[in-house]
Amino acid sequence: MSEITSETAPGGRLDAPVLVLVDRTGEGAPTGAGLGLVSTARGLTAGDVVALVAGDIDSDTAAALTAAGATRLLTADLGGRETVAAVAADAVVAAVGSVAPAVALVGADYRGKEIAGRAAVLLGSACASDVGDLRVVDGELHASKLVLSGTWSTTMTVSAQADHTPVISVHPSAAASAPSAAGSDVPAVEALEVPLSAEAAAVKVVSREVGDAAAGPDLSEAQRVVVMGRGTDGDVTLVHSLADPLDAAIGATRVACDEGWIERSAQVGQTGVSIAPSLYIGLGVSGAVHHTSGIQGAGTIVAICDDSEAPIFEMADYGVVGDVAEVVPQLVEELARLRG
Ligand SMILES: Cc1cc2nc3c(=O)[nH]c(=O)nc-3n(C[C@H](O)[C@H](O)[C@H](O)COP(=O)(O)OP(=O)(O)OC[C@H]3O[C@@H](n4cnc5c(N)ncnc54)[C@H](O)[C@@H]3O)c2cc1C
Repeated sequence: MSEITSETAPGGRLDAPVLVLVDRTGEGAPTGAGLGLVSTARGLTAGDVVALVAGDIDSDTAAALTAAGATRLLTADLGGRETVAAVAADAVVAAVGSVAPAVALVGADYRGKEIAGRAAVLLGSACASDVGDLRVVDGELHASKLVLSGTWSTTMTVSAQADHTPVISVHPSAAASAPSAAGSDVPAVEALEVPLSAEAAAVKVVSREVGDAAAGPDLSEAQRVVVMGRGTDGDVTLVHSLADPLDAAIGATRVACDEGWIERSAQVGQTGVSIAPSLYIGLGVSGAVHHTSGIQGAGTIVAICDDSEAPIFEMADYGVVGDVAEVVPQLVEELARLRG
């Protein structure tokens, strides 16, 4: 697999601030993806890295953000409605008005892409979505992303300027190579006023519940992912039997979601989420390009499929040609044996 990295190019770094919208876990800590974004921003600019967080920032959160490279901390009271993309986009717009950054970065999950598009429209600026590599080359911001189902990589320059701040949603595989911020002083938290647009104010959250797919590790951040393909024939118990001992998140192909075996939020691929685990295990997955475009950032790829001609074997590091119903129990048994 080619590695997608975000690093400081010989062309140096920007001077202007970079704004980062940092999401929080259910427990209130910054998400790993959010901290990764801060680190990516640190690699892009010699100026301030401004972390924007919804809700109170406690000392642990402030310390984590500072260690990742943030030099300013903005808190926005969004009344717990930050899960609404229109509300979060308003916060980004308000922060851009306050900070005048060269560029604003958000995560490239479903919500992040919506936030990026909406904020860019409100700002009258550019938007680049699902970017897997960001770097500064000769003072210009270069953003690269996979297109045409992952068969091509395209690089664009994004004019980074304070009067038309572009908004970029960044793929989780964009790993940063940033100067260490260890030992930096934790900055004071600044409160940001966010005037809500009519569109955001019109949306009310009626209820929220954690879906089954989210019950395990977060798919977009997981280091290990087991993917349920058509070849599992909907055997969720079989998929869990392997995923649970590995503490892996469960993903799925579109077929598995279409069949209703698992929620749509588990779909990995072109029209689902992009993932970058260190270990991907596909169970009964053929490896259609629409699916594999979402695993370009994966480390070791393991495929168990009964069709030796399946395209997944072309990219797999380890492959087993066989029936998942026979191979998975043996794998689970061997795992248990190795772990004593
Ligand atoms: C515009 C567009 C967007 C799309 N977006 C996505 C996307 O985001 N994500 C996505 O996943 N797909 C997407 N698709 C669909 C994609 O093209 C494939 O149809 C889909 O990924 C195939 O899923 P699958 O591998 O589970 O099924 P299949 O392609 O049917 O493969 C199942 C494999 O399992 C094997 N098998 C069967 N039984 C067993 C068994 N008992 N043990 C072991 N192996 C077995 C079969 O031999 C086969 O190789 C998209 C398609 C289009 C047109």
